Formats: sequence, C-alpha cells, structure tokens
Amino acid sequence: MRILFSCILFSLLSFKLWADDTYRYYINLAAVTNDKLQIELVPPSFNEDEVQFCFPAMVPGTYSVYDFGRFVSNFKALDKSGKEIPVQKADVNTFTIRNARSLSKITYEVEDTWDTAIKESVVFEPGGTNIESNTVFGINTHGFFGYFKNHLRKNYVLEFNKPEGFYPSTGLTDLKIAAQKDIITAPDYYELVDSPILYCRPDTTTIEVANTQVLVSSYSPNKKISSAFIASTLKELLYAQKDYLGGELPVKKYAFLFNFVDKPTLSGASGALEHSYSSFYVLYEMPDTATLRQTLRDVCAHEFFHIVTPLNIHSKEIGDFDFNKPVMSKHLWLYEGMTEYAAHHAQARAGLIEIDKFFEVMIEKYQNSLEQFNDTMSFTYMSKNVLNPKIYPQYGNVYEKGALIGLCLDILMRHYSHGNYGTQNLMKDLALKYGKHQSFNDEDLFADIEKLTFPEIGTFLKRYVEGKEPLPLADVLKLIGINLEKERKEMRFTLGGMDVGYNDDTKRLVFLNVKKCDEFGKQFKFKEGDELFKLNNTVVDMDQVQNIFAGYYQNLKEGDEVWIEVYRPKRKGKYKLKKLNGFAKKVEVTQKNVISLIPGIDEQQKQTLKAWVGYQL
Ligand SMILES: [Zn+2]
Repeated sequence: MRILFSCILFSLLSFKLWADDTYRYYINLAAVTNDKLQIELVPPSFNEDEVQFCFPAMVPGTYSVYDFGRFVSNFKALDKSGKEIPVQKADVNTFTIRNARSLSKITYEVEDTWDTAIKESVVFEPGGTNIESNTVFGINTHGFFGYFKNHLRKNYVLEFNKPEGFYPSTGLTDLKIAAQKDIITAPDYYELVDSPILYCRPDTTTIEVANTQVLVSSYSPNKKISSAFIASTLKELLYAQKDYLGGELPVKKYAFLFNFVDKPTLSGASGALEHSYSSFYVLYEMPDTATLRQTLRDVCAHEFFHIVTPLNIHSKEIGDFDFNKPVMSKHLWLYEGMTEYAAHHAQARAGLIEIDKFFEVMIEKYQNSLEQFNDTMSFTYMSKNVLNPKIYPQYGNVYEKGALIGLCLDILMRHYSHGNYGTQNLMKDLALKYGKHQSFNDEDLFADIEKLTFPEIGTFLKRYVEGKEPLPLADVLKLIGINLEKERKEMRFTLGGMDVGYNDDTKRLVFLNVKKCDEFGKQFKFKEGDELFKLNNTVVDMDQVQNIFAGYYQNLKEGDEVWIEVYRPKRKGKYKLKKLNGFAKKVEVTQKNVISLIPGIDEQQKQTLKAWVGYQL
C-alpha cells in the first residue's frame, strides 16, 4: 500500500509540475487531412490576464524572415468546458488571448512549407516543414510549435501518435519510444527549435566517434541513398574533425538527418541547416558517384563544425535570439566564414583531399567573391544588415569571402606565432572564454581576438572585415611561399572554348554558348546543345572523364587531326550522331588568379606552410 500511495503522490506531484511549467503538445501523425497536421496544446499556467501566442518570424541559421504563422490555420483557444475564448491576431505570427486565466487548450492546423500554395518568401527547405502522409515528416519544430511571449524557458513535451513502424530521428536525447506513441521532451523553446525531427520508417546507422554517438538517418524516396552509405562516407571525415578540434567532440550525441527528394524543391535549392546537436539536409537523390560523396563530405563538414560556432562562440543577438523581432550580429564572417573554412581546411590537414584540390576550392571562392559579390562592402555591415532586402543578395559571400577571411587569419596567425598558433587555437580559446551559455558583445569581439593573438590581427580585422579594403590575399599567400597572379596569358590546347554543361538523362557533356568558340573550336562548327560522345575515338564516359581529357591533352601535338563525335539534338528528344574534325591548334587563354610555388621559398615560409596545412616541402 505504501508503494501505491507513494506512486499516487508522485504522479500527482509530477502532474502539478507539468500543469505549471510545461507545454504539452499532441500531434497525430497518422491523421493527416488536406496535407495538414492537427496540433493540440495544453499550455503551461499563467499569472497574466492576457497572453500572446507566437510562431517564429525567423529562426537562427536561416538569415531570412519566413513568418511561420503564415502556415497556421483554424487557430482556436478553448476554456475548460471546451468553449472558445476570443482570440485576436496581432500580426501574421501572433495571437492575443485576452482571458488567459481560463485558457485550457489551444488547437490549430499546420500546412507544410514544402508544397504550400503560398509562393511569396518561399522557405528554404532545410528550414521548412514536410508533411507526406504515411511516408515522411520533416519536423522542423519551429514550423509546428509556438510559444507564449515571455514563457520560452519552459519545458516542452511532445506526444506523437504515429503510423505503424515510424521512428523519430533527432539530436534530442529525452525520448520515450513505443509502438504507437512517442514522447519527446525538450527543456525549453530554444532547444526545441534547435532540434528537428525526421519521422519515417527508419533507415538509420549509428557510429561512435571518440565519445560521441553519431546518428545518421536517411529518408530516400527511391531508396537510392542509405544511411549506411552516408555513414561510411562520413566516418573518416568525422575522425578528421575530431582531431581538428583537439581529439574530442563537444557533444555527446549528434544526428545527421537526411530528407532526400526526387522532385525539384519549391525554392529550387537544396542544402542543409545546422543545429547544436543535429543538422537537417534536403538533397536530391543522386547515383553514387565521387561527386556525391565529396558533396556529402563538404556539406556535412560545414554543418557539423557549427558546433564550434555559433554553438560555443556567439554574440548576444544569437544567444538570446528573438524569434519575432530578430536582430542580426555583425559577425557572420565568424559563424559562417570560419565554419566553411574549417570544413575544407580540416579535410586538407587530414589528407582527405589533396592540397591542390584545397587550393582549387579556395581560389574558386576568391573568384566567386570578386565576380558575384560587392568586394568593397564592409563584411560586418553586411552581416548586421543582412535582413535588409537590398543587402541580402550579398549574404552568399559569407561562404566565399567569409571562408577566405578564415584562410588569411589562419596563415597570418601561424606566421606571427612561428607556427604555434592558428585559427584552430583561436576558436578553442574563444570557446573557453565564452561557451554555450555566455555570449560576447558584438562590439568587443575584435579586441578580444587581438588580445588572444597579435596586434597585426586586430589591424587585419579592422581593415578587411570591418573596413572596405579588398582582402590582401596575394600578400598573405606569400607568407607560405605561394605566388598569386591576377591574370596569366598562355598558349594552350582547349576543347573549343565553349561552355560545357551536363545532361543527367543521357549522361553526356553538353556544349553551350558555342558562339564563344575559339579558333580551334570554330573548325568543328558545333551547334548549341551538341552532346559529346567520342573524343579521338574514345567514348567520353563520365566515370573516366578526367582521365580521358588528361590523356587527350597530354598526347596532343600542334597540327594533329582531332575527331569529335557528338549527338546533335533533333525533334522529340531524338539525336543524330555527327562525326566532326579539325586540327590541333594552341590558342591564347587568359587564366585568372593563378597560384604557383615561389622559386627559392625561404625557411620561414616553409615553416608557416607546414604549420598551416601539415605540408612539408
Ligand atoms: Zn553554415
């Protein structure tokens, strides 16, 4: 009897706790109607007479206002007897409930952002919501669940009824999983929003990296890309990232959640969104190729490194993120740029990619930053004002110039410290100084970095990150014995000078903008859309394409006869095979931003190069 008594007491106590401090959400995934989910909320109790219930306007990591309230309908507030309490819509995301003390339940419906009829401000899919009845649910929690203003730090308990066999993959660790019903708990709204859930019949693989459990979960509509394949692709990378961070990963559990698609997305884009304990990927199902594997590694390395920043290094704007009146931080170069730089640098240091390949990626970023973005806009200004539609087009530069800021800082620090200190050390020191629960002041960051490093680093940040001066990339690369030429003209063999695309259906390269053909290319009289079949009698097989071109250029001599066979598109998807010929001829080619090793590289340059990327000359 005592046991029973204490049980009752316990359950009464815990019920009281829930009733006071907990949002209790009920969702029936097995009952999708009109592509919508019905949501029920038993709210925590209040002392206020009036409360505002909000859906987020924006969530961290997206840098766009999406107004998730747009996807909510049939919102009702009910009292104990089930009678409706009047609700007023204060704005697109906010519902004002006057008689808050009598509020007993809230109900509403949510349609998903992935196939909505609302075509303005389309939500980038990795930050959006996906409802596919009895198939898959991409539960980005901010799209389904709201909060009461000033009550964000309360417990969230989500109770999901689910179709048979469904499993919730998430970075959250408080899960009670059963056959028909799962209960998932998050300690507050910040952590809830930080924790997407991929609900489907599971294809999951878990790998251990040091002390961290890494869950890989894949929903692939045609079962083309399994979690086991992804896990095997990522394993070496995760070990490299662990080493890069000093031998340990700063989280106990991490989840890679993949919702693959086989149709174009509404936004037209694919990609991923980072969180503290997980990342959510929306990528196209592609056949297993070296390109797919490297894409997976690059995008996962980036998202995973966000556990350093902003998780452990962030300003107040991010630490106390305002979901409905978001204020931006000045330091996107840190959150996105340093993350993107580390994603590639870690792979190069670990030997997962060749040094040449790493430089190729960095130089491509440099070129993109010069050609596609405003190179004289202050990076901190852009970051602070990124929500302004006039400034937003510059946002993509955080992945280009932002990464190069990281590269420059790393080389400069290693130069001034004689190889003893780089961005890896800096990020570690900043994480120690701040950490998950302590935000820095936007204004203080540069001075803090200067104190940890060198006066020259402070000057660099002021001139090139805050200021408008173009990055001194050529001067920085000199410190590791590398010469950067703005332009180099040389006589070379080409394929013809036109642009080259790829036809995924025929698996052939396509000649585009044939008007651009050079003197060599003009001989063949290519037509727009010609698809390359054979080059000098060798079938241009995509798996071997690099070797085929390398062999072709290697053996070619001025005046040699060259045969190119193309499939020329005709009507109704038909092609005609054309055999064309010309004679090898070198043409003048202008290359931009060419790097080469400086002859007679000195000892200090060698030391900095080795410290930076582990490469011994
Ligand atoms: Zn990122």
